[in-house]
Amino acid sequence: MLHLLDQTPDQLQAWFVERGLPSYRAGQVWRWVFGGRVAEFEQMTDLPRALRSQLADAFGIFTSRVVKHQQADDGTEKLLLELADAQRIECVLLRDDQEHRTICISTQVGCAMGCVFCASGLDGLVRNLRSGEIIEQMLHVQRLLGSETERGDQRLSHMVVMGMGEPLANLDALLPALAVATSPDGLGIGARRITISTVGLPAGIRRLAEQDRPYHLAVSLHAADDALRNRLVPAGSKVSVASILAASEDYFEKTGRRVTLEYGLLADLNDRPEHAGRLVTRLQGRPALINVIPYNPVPGLPYRRPTAAATARFVGTLRQGGLNVKIRYRKGDRIGAACGQLRRGRQ
Ligand code: SF4
Repeated sequence: MLHLLDQTPDQLQAWFVERGLPSYRAGQVWRWVFGGRVAEFEQMTDLPRALRSQLADAFGIFTSRVVKHQQADDGTEKLLLELADAQRIECVLLRDDQEHRTICISTQVGCAMGCVFCASGLDGLVRNLRSGEIIEQMLHVQRLLGSETERGDQRLSHMVVMGMGEPLANLDALLPALAVATSPDGLGIGARRITISTVGLPAGIRRLAEQDRPYHLAVSLHAADDALRNRLVPAGSKVSVASILAASEDYFEKTGRRVTLEYGLLADLNDRPEHAGRLVTRLQGRPALINVIPYNPVPGLPYRRPTAAATARFVGTLRQGGLNVKIRYRKGDRIGAACGQLRRGRQ
């Protein structure tokens, strides 16, 4: 059986045409899945009954199931999904005061990057997700917002590709999934409202820039010098900070979108005045925004969140150095919204 969500709109149209059926049926199916939020072909009531069972014999819509659903007081909801091969991934719905409804998606089972402070990388990479598995996360999270008739303005408005996995290591699956997310027949989320977060793979950054889509790119730097960065992101040791910044500038030139540099602030590791000073020297004159993100401790890992005073001192030094800085706190701390925590908790 084929996974419906692994088919591109063109492939689905071709399936109908090959069987002597009108190609517009493909559009009807997409509208039911994305707009009508149905999970079964039987619910697609404007399709002939015989066609509904033909589709049900040929395709599965959902190949994953929700095995855990957590909700936090701040409106954040987190789903643990079990895939057809029993692997587990996470996706998150974030709400904010401005009526933004943001989905955070995963792109891989596990992660090969091995960032020392992250739960997702602890067991390495298991496998890439397929496009359909990435799109399924969108549909599961969309269902948390209610059915079409009751949803009002309850649409997913933004997307962050910041869950489990390194997105630029699975662009072959991610790019078609984002095409569906941005399509008016899919989720209709504007490309400018989609943020792709990478640990910094220069070749992947350049390939993404070639797509000519104005996705927002966030690059996790975490350190201004190679020695410290290699300690924090061991799998990135062949990639220098200089090459990451060069690729980020190329991205800006190609897309016109300024890259955000993310700096996860870890107590006593990269939060001291000398670290801030090196970052100022490294970034001066570059067209970047910097997000400083005080670390969310992960059970079982020895890293701590810096004190408020250390965070303020670090950010103050960056601002005095002329950098454009914001402090960001991750939502959903109480439900382990740092990626990978829920999955590990179930194993
Ligand atoms: S922080 Fe991101 S890139 Fe690093 S190990 Fe975790 S999931 Fe992978």
